Amino acid sequence: MAAPARVGLRRWLSSRAPAPRICVVGSGPAGFYTAQHILKFLATGFLCSTPSCPAFLPEHHDLAQVDIYEKLPVPFGLVRFGVAPDHPEVKNVINTFTHTARSDRCAYYGNVTVGRDVTVGELQQAYHAVVLSYGAEDNRVLGIPGENLSGVYSARAFVGWYNGLPENRDKTDITDCSLAALACSKVKRVWLAGRRGPLQVAFTIKELREMINLPGTQPVLNPADFTGLENAVKDAPRPRKRLTELMIKTALEKHREKAVMAQAAVPRQWGLKFQRSPQEVLPTADGMRVRGVRMALTRLEGSGDSAKAVPTGDMEELECGLVLSSIGYRSLPLDPAVPFDTQHSIIPNNLGRVMGVPGLYCSGWVKRGPVGVIITTMNDSFDTAQSVLEDLQEGVLDVSVSKEGFGAVGSILRSRGIRPVSFSEWEKIDAAEVARGKAAGKPREKIVDPQEMLQLIGH
Ligand SMILES: Cc1cc2nc3c(=O)[nH]c(=O)nc-3n(C[C@H](O)[C@H](O)[C@H](O)COP(=O)(O)OP(=O)(O)OC[C@H]3O[C@@H](n4cnc5c(N)ncnc54)[C@H](O)[C@@H]3O)c2cc1C
Repeated sequence: MAAPARVGLRRWLSSRAPAPRICVVGSGPAGFYTAQHILKFLATGFLCSTPSCPAFLPEHHDLAQVDIYEKLPVPFGLVRFGVAPDHPEVKNVINTFTHTARSDRCAYYGNVTVGRDVTVGELQQAYHAVVLSYGAEDNRVLGIPGENLSGVYSARAFVGWYNGLPENRDKTDITDCSLAALACSKVKRVWLAGRRGPLQVAFTIKELREMINLPGTQPVLNPADFTGLENAVKDAPRPRKRLTELMIKTALEKHREKAVMAQAAVPRQWGLKFQRSPQEVLPTADGMRVRGVRMALTRLEGSGDSAKAVPTGDMEELECGLVLSSIGYRSLPLDPAVPFDTQHSIIPNNLGRVMGVPGLYCSGWVKRGPVGVIITTMNDSFDTAQSVLEDLQEGVLDVSVSKEGFGAVGSILRSRGIRPVSFSEWEKIDAAEVARGKAAGKPREKIVDPQEMLQLIGH
């Protein structure tokens, strides 16, 4: 590391030069955790707390300003539009994000689609560093015949529908309606089919427990699927071992119960179908809707997480009236100026530094792919923020040049007729949603139409 650069930064800091301006694209967990980490270190002035260290920065210096741009009027990404409504405790991270957004050094600009309303190049002109944290908004497709039949949806669209995501609102008006629709559902049985076996399932023990304890439903697990697995997981990592043991216990218990209850009517059932790979969605006689899925049976080659499913040549037809494909989310390229790895659908990067573009960074699902929960995203975003801090500290980012930040971007947006939503305006929308929810005894009733949101705040 070039020591003169550190000295340069310290001299620049003590000269009360303009603050480093950093811009974050996307207001999901990745965006907010990146902003939080940068602000935490630069707002207190400590990259290092030892005054003799070259990385020590003076306290209370007028340091970084972080601006967050978000395409929707409302913030928080998948915390609002992905996390299940019956997991309110997960949504408590919103309190931390709100604390960050209310900081004097942080500004939120909703209703701005980067790549359309303003380019990444324009942001780079206006900011010393730009962090792309725009998530994974598309879904992977099965790529099999019949996938476009009526009655086939992506899990992403289904989640968006019950969570009131604006782009999915045509399937309902408000989340109240989706709840009402689900309450009248005639669905009696849900099969979760996967290519591999019980030792490769990707759900957690918490999720399995919730499914097992769903009122009015019965799990249907075939004990034969678990033969010999108790021994196989003896030395497996503890989470995998406990998860497998719970599946085995459930399969055996429910098998016994089934024998006792014989014909007893259970309103609803769900079950796991292992080693099945969908080959074709089958149409009804009129060719309009789904009537089932043709599955290839598979055998496993290898073991553990790296086991591969290989078709045996045998086929099976599974009758159903609705197919939800849940094979993963996918990021899309944002702007031709930003490198994109189309094979893995991520921005190629090294510890969050976008390859070949100094001053450009990425965090969250667009950085590492659509896997991991909020805590994984938090750690990953802190790593990216750390890269930004190191580059500031080491002089990789030229902070001697004054950048206008929102001063410049605001003019561009005005000239294009775009009016951003501020965080205090979002708080008005929030208050209206909470008030609407109160009447129904809910934490909030989401407004799903962006136009209605904008009208509410006088745009
Ligand atoms: C259905 C579902 C349920 C989940 N449940 C849980 C759970 O219970 N617990 C848990 O810990 N994790 C859960 N997760 C995982 C968690 O949501 C992710 O780890 C996390 O949201 C990823 O954060 P992100 O910021 O990378 O992406 P996102 O949360 O998707 O945020 C990206 C943001 O960028 C914005 N954006 C997109 N394009 C642009 C653009 N062009 N310009 C400006 N802004 C843009 C989006 O509108 C969005 O606000 C769940 C995920 C899903 C899909």
